[in-house]
Amino acid sequence: MLDSGTHFRRGLRRTCRRISRRYRELRMIAKGLLSRNHPVLAHVIPMRRCNLSCAYCNEYDNYSQPVPLATMHQRLDRLADLGTTIITISGGEPLLHPQLDEIVTRIRRRGMIAGMITNGYLLTADRVQRLNRAGLEHLQISIDNVKPDEVSKKSLKVLDKKLQLLAAHAEFHVNINSVVGAGIYNPHDALTVGRRAIELGFTSTVGIIHDGDGQLQPLGDEEREVYAAMRSMEKSSYAQINYFQDNIAHGRENRWRCRAGSRYLYICEDGLVHYCSQQRGYPAKPLMEYTVEDIRREYRTAKSCAPRCTVACVHQISYIDFWRGPQDLTPLPASDQPEDGLVQIQ
Ligand code: SF4
Ligand code: SF4
Repeated sequence: MLDSGTHFRRGLRRTCRRISRRYRELRMIAKGLLSRNHPVLAHVIPMRRCNLSCAYCNEYDNYSQPVPLATMHQRLDRLADLGTTIITISGGEPLLHPQLDEIVTRIRRRGMIAGMITNGYLLTADRVQRLNRAGLEHLQISIDNVKPDEVSKKSLKVLDKKLQLLAAHAEFHVNINSVVGAGIYNPHDALTVGRRAIELGFTSTVGIIHDGDGQLQPLGDEEREVYAAMRSMEKSSYAQINYFQDNIAHGRENRWRCRAGSRYLYICEDGLVHYCSQQRGYPAKPLMEYTVEDIRREYRTAKSCAPRCTVACVHQISYIDFWRGPQDLTPLPASDQPEDGLVQIQ
């Protein structure tokens, strides 16, 4: 239990951080509008290993070692030199990395916005306070159901205590993402998760689970009802639901220009740049050799997977350029790709 003085000081720090975050986010949008030649968002993977094994996930293993801190520093410095604005640490499970705090500190020291996606299992009060001190600005936890099942253990029942810890100690912004779609038995669980998130003072979003290639799987009637209910919650709670998901929910394709490889970069544990978590293998060039020419080329490259894509973060980032920069190139031929490309663009 926190005393009233501690509570007041924490509230003040949260307010100051929120104002500073908003200011830097506005600066990010302005910078993104002024120049097309830099990444806005990069996902970095310091740890491919995960402590869970969700049935739908193709982004983890159970054996990888952490990427050494010095290597992570080099990659973050390279991203900063390329002009990247936001870094989201992802995985696997980033909390398994023993030097996660130093990674966050380096991101902030290089003037970038620091975020993280975690399953939340390893959070403790001390861990949250260390992330405060390191300067973390955004944290997202995805919660898939109310009770654990064979598809996912990312359950409200298991994680509610962790959410309470975050509500008590976190000075950074917390978003709880719930999901509907293939493999989730009870679509109404998403509403329960969303309501709990708002009750604890977090923001809430809903995602639609994609297939193994990040592609659209139309929702059933009940799932669409839940999706619509989450949308109405948005009005009263500031939950952010992405416009493109309206089409996905109805099984319709989206017309948009995916700027992966340019405005958005996915840096795997081996330090290669990929389009996104679902298109690993393109362009698969080492980050340390990635140049402004690569960014310009990929900005103009049309991705054939775009119409049925559900990868939310790339949709959001690509919105900055939606009215400009037609795409008249195609991805590099497969012969220019490494033989162990993980997922082939189709
Ligand atoms: S917790 Fe996240 S990274 Fe780990 S298996 Fe589940 S979805 Fe994949
Ligand atoms: S459209 Fe872009 S973000 Fe979506 S799967 Fe293809 S490369 Fe990835």
